[in-house]
Amino acid sequence: MTTIARKLQDVRARIATACQLAGRGVEDVTLLAVSKTFGAADVRQAAEAGQRAFGENYVQEGVEKIAALADLRAALAWHCIGPLQSNKTRLVAEHFDWVHTVDRLKIAERLSAQRPEGLASLNVCIQVNIDGGASKSGVAPAEALALARAVAALPRLRLRGLMTIPEPAPDFGAARAVHASARALFEQLNAAGLGLDTLSMGMSADLEAAVAAGSTMVRVGSAIFGARG
Ligand SMILES: *Cc1c(COP(=O)(O)O)cnc(C)c1O
Repeated sequence: MTTIARKLQDVRARIATACQLAGRGVEDVTLLAVSKTFGAADVRQAAEAGQRAFGENYVQEGVEKIAALADLRAALAWHCIGPLQSNKTRLVAEHFDWVHTVDRLKIAERLSAQRPEGLASLNVCIQVNIDGGASKSGVAPAEALALARAVAALPRLRLRGLMTIPEPAPDFGAARAVHASARALFEQLNAAGLGLDTLSMGMSADLEAAVAAGSTMVRVGSAIFGARG
């Protein structure tokens, strides 16, 4: 078994344990393998070990990897999880399956307009700055509902949920509390009729706290692929 296959198994076991402790089904939580900075050969190894969803932060790097793994394209889902500038929306709309980092209507409008007709709707999460970090992207929680409604109305997008990247927390309880505030916002939007099914939160260091708080998709990089250089 390769190192990547073994680490994937460890991460799946962590998710399963966290689900069990939270009284949740393991099928409630999707593992997104964050392959940024790692090569196509590493992604292929993970795919051969059964991993299907991959996350990339840098659009150009992601597009190159998608091309290098074109033979696996139908089996894999590619998620753009990095900050998105206007001049990169076309590449994302043409090549990716998901975008987690929509925090402005203008970006969503471009993605919708640029999504090719022959492809399924682009799956979108709205990034929320859940802990008010000053230097961060993401819409303020109070603005999430209005943006979600506007994004949900765009024709070539399918609004799936919310995504957060909280600051590292000092301990499990603090991490879970921040993630729980994201879960509460997610439920508030669903109570308003938005029909969201995805709450993208939790990374290598805090996936247990995120699952405990109700994450449905954890984005895990270093615990699968190793430390980034
Ligand atoms: C890099 C990255 C991750 C994965 O982080 P790890 O700590 O390596 O698991 C998850 N989400 C986003 C948005 C990232 O940029």
